[in-house]
Amino acid sequence: MNLTIKKMQKYLKEKYKIIKPEEMNNTQRYFLKLIEEVGELAEVIRKDKRMEDGNIKGTIEEELSDVLYYVLMIANTYDIDLETSFRLKEELNSKRYNHKLKIDNIKEDN
Ligand SMILES: [Mg+2]
Repeated sequence: MNLTIKKMQKYLKEKYKIIKPEEMNNTQRYFLKLIEEVGELAEVIRKDKRMEDGNIKGTIEEELSDVLYYVLMIANTYDIDLETSFRLKEELNSKRYNHKLKIDNIKEDN
């Protein structure tokens, strides 16, 4: 099943409604967690720890996922639709850097 940014954001909203409703809008907490995870990502990149045999613990794959998790959480605290934001930002970038590639012209593999 396809995993979209929209679906990830919705999943996290539903999850926090159940497990930590009082934390759902705590932007500062998620921002600090994001910075913490960026630090962990720096370490595994420095050590070049890639995932092997599906074991994600202590790898670049794990820490990138953690970073994404808190980016999504922060977006949720503001009810920001990150797919829309990404599209709009790429439109700005295409003008700024004069590239013609459109995201909707990209075909997904599989
Ligand atoms: Mg981590």
